[in-house]
Amino acid sequence: MTISKTAVLAAALSLTVASAAQPKPTRSQTTSRRLPGTAIVAMQAIRPENIETHVRFLSDDLLEGRGTGQRGGDIAAEYIAAQFALYGLKPAGDKGTYMQKVPMVGITPGADTRFTLVPANGKKFDLKPLDEYVAYDQTQQPASDIDAEIVYVGYGIDAPEYNWDDYKGVDLKGKVLLMLVNQPADDPKLFHGKALTYYGRWTYKYEQAARKGAVGAILIHKTDMASYGWEVVRNSNSGEKSFLKLDGAPKLKAAAWIHLDVANKLAKSAGLDLDKMMSDARSRDFKPVPLNVRLTAHMASKIRPFESNNVIAVLPGADKKLKDEAVMYTAHYDHLGIRPDMPGDNIYNGAMDNATGCGILLELARTYAQGAQKPRRSIFFASVTAEEQGLLGSEYLGKHPPIPANKIQLDLNYDDVKPLGSPEEVQVAGAERTNFYPAVQALATEFRFTIRPDARPEAGHFYRSDHFSLARVGIPAFSINEGMKFKHHDEAWGLAQDVPPTQRRIPSRHGLHFRRRHGPLRLRARMGSSQPVHPSHLEKRRRIRKSPFGRSVREGSPATSVTLWLRFLATEVRHHSHSKAPKLA
Ligand SMILES: [Zn+2]
Repeated sequence: MTISKTAVLAAALSLTVASAAQPKPTRSQTTSRRLPGTAIVAMQAIRPENIETHVRFLSDDLLEGRGTGQRGGDIAAEYIAAQFALYGLKPAGDKGTYMQKVPMVGITPGADTRFTLVPANGKKFDLKPLDEYVAYDQTQQPASDIDAEIVYVGYGIDAPEYNWDDYKGVDLKGKVLLMLVNQPADDPKLFHGKALTYYGRWTYKYEQAARKGAVGAILIHKTDMASYGWEVVRNSNSGEKSFLKLDGAPKLKAAAWIHLDVANKLAKSAGLDLDKMMSDARSRDFKPVPLNVRLTAHMASKIRPFESNNVIAVLPGADKKLKDEAVMYTAHYDHLGIRPDMPGDNIYNGAMDNATGCGILLELARTYAQGAQKPRRSIFFASVTAEEQGLLGSEYLGKHPPIPANKIQLDLNYDDVKPLGSPEEVQVAGAERTNFYPAVQALATEFRFTIRPDARPEAGHFYRSDHFSLARVGIPAFSINEGMKFKHHDEAWGLAQDVPPTQRRIPSRHGLHFRRRHGPLRLRARMGSSQPVHPSHLEKRRRIRKSPFGRSVREGSPATSVTLWLRFLATEVRHHSHSKAPKLA
């Protein structure tokens, strides 16, 4: 497909896109009279075939899966910058360019790393890498040594707004903190009940340990608490991992996970019972428990510094006063690159994740730039790098925004928008945390979209895409995607297109066809290292690796209608302030 013009006509917005040059308002029942005519004209100028063209290019084998720090990723960035320039948008990166350099390092744990638990009374035990523990040295040194007491800090949460503090003022400088992942969930009033807050994420645990002056943090893996098995920990923590270059924020010499069996053994060697330790942690009265066990570790790391780029353009606002404020659109361009050790077609093309988001971002940029009426606020378009490495590009963008973060009124992010058909639902998880939500609801109604609530709040999706990096610095931000209900399909069909990663396999039904083009693998030799991927990820990525446009989709592109809808969202950004910027949790 065929995001054909007719398909678009059939799409939720019933708009004419056949001729951008002669837009005329349609008899649409879904657009309201209160939408300004200029906005309708601009909306009709969106050409889905442009989106498709971008996706085809960005997911071509020639781009080698757009790996961060790899050649294909850099080509994608240059392509996006070139489009911005062709649209006449102004550069908003470093030194008058579209590129914002993001300094990063790749860290690979070395073979002579040692990780040993030394009880005060009893035999010390060496842990086996990957089978029993994983650890990275966040201080980015080739070698670090640790000899420190281990203190159990329960969930390791300090959340004043929930009146919860696992630390109770205990000095933990120079210690190694043993922690549980997730959050206490017994009381539905606490931490949003089962919905994962940022306090439950492993990233928070490491950050908090570092803020407390600890030299290391060890997370206890328990499948139900982590919501994934040890293989996930193992696979996503083997080989090279990327980090932002040190920026003065405190870091850990050992950011580690241990297997549940090791945790049991560790508790026993301290004369404690792990189950009891876990239940104690569910109380507000919990206090840190010194284990009388030391961690002695030698952390050896291979350090590979490299640079990648966020690509940023701006359309300056037309209003004298309001042009100092901005709306931002984001979509990451990176994917997983090439996996050199994989036989056969080993390019992770990442058509859906996230060439679709880039295509939408670019087409929005074009229609904004070429629209007859300029928006009052400035509009930033940022295609960020290293999302797959842990939201690193957007984290850097959040820390180094092109204008002060408090001037950015809204960030709308696109990630993994699947062209499955004509959507009747949208997902806007996190939007309800912002004071922009009433506008979102009103527009959803106008466009006849049902807002689909987060089906698995415990999975913490809000923390897993780039909008979160911007929400962290106080910018109201959320991602937009279609829901599960598509025109001419029931919800079950939609759900079947979106099975959990662990159950994903390459589907043979639903007309999914992957063009097994064994592309220009000769380019492999020029690649940098590739990133390890979890097998279930691998299934997922494989499923989505080829152009989603290879299959027959008769309905309008969700990318299109969701885009159109969002285009409107931005026009709605008016008078909201930052008083209700989303909090971390
Ligand atoms: Zn993504």
